[in-house]
Amino acid sequence: MSAAEEFDVIVVGGGPGGYPTAIRAAQLGMRALCIDSWVNHDGTPSFGGTCLNAGCIPSKALLESSELYHRAATEFSRHGIGVGKLSLDLAAMQARRAEVSKANAGGVQLLFKANKVTGLFGRGTLLGGGKVGYTSNGGKTQATYSAKHIVIATGSAPVELRKIAPFDGERVVDSWGALEFSAVPKRLGIIGAGVIGVELGSVWSRLGAEVVILEALPGFLPMVDAQISKEALRTLTKQGLDIRLGAKVVGVKATKKNVEVTFERDGKAEKESFDKLIVAVGRRPYTENLGCEVAGVELTERGFVKIDANYRTSAAGIYAVGDVTGGAMLAHKAIEEGVALAEQLAGQKSEVNYRAVPSVIYTAPEIAWVGLSEEQAKQEGHDIKVGTSSFVANGRARAMEQAAGTIKFISDAKTDRILGVHMIGPYVSELLAEAVLALEFGAVTEDIQLTMHAHPSLAETFHEAALAVDGHAIHSANKARKA
Ligand code: FAD
Ligand code: NAD
Repeated sequence: MSAAEEFDVIVVGGGPGGYPTAIRAAQLGMRALCIDSWVNHDGTPSFGGTCLNAGCIPSKALLESSELYHRAATEFSRHGIGVGKLSLDLAAMQARRAEVSKANAGGVQLLFKANKVTGLFGRGTLLGGGKVGYTSNGGKTQATYSAKHIVIATGSAPVELRKIAPFDGERVVDSWGALEFSAVPKRLGIIGAGVIGVELGSVWSRLGAEVVILEALPGFLPMVDAQISKEALRTLTKQGLDIRLGAKVVGVKATKKNVEVTFERDGKAEKESFDKLIVAVGRRPYTENLGCEVAGVELTERGFVKIDANYRTSAAGIYAVGDVTGGAMLAHKAIEEGVALAEQLAGQKSEVNYRAVPSVIYTAPEIAWVGLSEEQAKQEGHDIKVGTSSFVANGRARAMEQAAGTIKFISDAKTDRILGVHMIGPYVSELLAEAVLALEFGAVTEDIQLTMHAHPSLAETFHEAALAVDGHAIHSANKARKA
């Protein structure tokens, strides 16, 4: 390939924001190049970004394995299944986790090939004037490429509490380090009871760690409907996660033996000692050495790439999608943005509906939501009606030994329009798709009420919750209320 090679689109970053942008652009007839700098801990380069290598996929692999282990230990006997003395081979579990990630990430390369996208491992740097500099991993090869359209999809990195709890890769780790523990910590501390805190806390707790999560805010999962987050806190606490709200960490001291964490709660200083400490206090945009200043790409005060409604940055011909632009840091949001942008670049009218972005927390039971919570709907001035239904009344859930959880509909009292659906329960990540579709189609509650749902299925609870909005639920108590 010559150094002066021209493309229609160059995408810097090959995660869920970047690789779909390149693929969709190529499908629409554009010559696309995607450059990605990800290198795994074993030294292998890989497309797929945080999600496939150190995020969504490896965490779900471990959530699945640890849940099976936990169920074998606590639930199989109720089914009449004896497994003898249960044992844990963490090395095998971790090898499977790595394989699952590798297979998914390898799939991106196959997709590039199938769609005729040029994929390069290495760093991309904005040079201005429609040019991108490329340096291969290790620095042996350098080149300059040009394109009409350049897309920044460089994602995000974990926030480090540099002054209090700097990462040392041994005792104090980020979420990536926490996915690759080679032994189950006896006592595990986590700073931050956000999505990562409760997902990774669940993994290690199920495998036998004593887990303490320290959360600075007084409330738990404030983005979730209060009724559902209250139930989630109760359930996770019952499972053994020691979640301490309103805990402000003021000092962390890592030694060869352990890590001591000092925090303040209710005005009192407390201390805990752990084998490992995960810092999971959010993620920051990643734009290091990208050349934003050189190319005239403005950043927000918090370091996100500033974009308009069409993903255009302040520099002509340069766009940005995914985590690096802010908003919800979710893989599916990044994917949809990349696809919409590629279609816009091809002259199509394409946009993302930010009012129908699904969110899932993969604990067991899962927590999932789309649209407004009861609190948000009221704040927006809606006159609302709500309906809830519990999985206790669901035959399939009982047969699965997973009859815990609730689905809640929040609907507009005047128009019947569904404003949001928030849930906790078995596989609600899958049930959520129906709620997203309802919001996407602008459905009213009656649309769901009149839709037949298979029996017995978990989706019946979704139907029942919609019926409960108007007091029509058949198989559960009608917990409808005008709010
Ligand atoms: P990234 O995935 O971060 O990809 C950016 C890529 O750009 C990286 O490969 C990076 O190396 C590369 N890059 C950066 N700078 C350069 C450069 N100069 N040149 C070339 N390449 C560069 N989201 C969900 O929706 N569901 C989940 O279940 C979920 N679980 C998660 C679990 C964990 C533990 C974590 C940490 C995150 C999770 N997320 C989940 C969030 C999800 O991973 C991100 O929202 C998603 O990866 C964002 O995609 P992106 O393409 O914007 O960024
Ligand atoms: P988060 O924003 O979900 O949670 C961080 C938590 O840390 C918050 O509750 C915050 O109040 C708390 N916190 C911040 N500073 C603190 C401090 N000094 N002491 C104690 N608590 C503190 O962030 P995360 O859990 O790190 O996850 C990062 C991103 O990755 C999220 O945006 C999330 O969307 C994404 N993610 C998504 C999934 C999923 O979709 N299932 C899974 C994992 C991660």
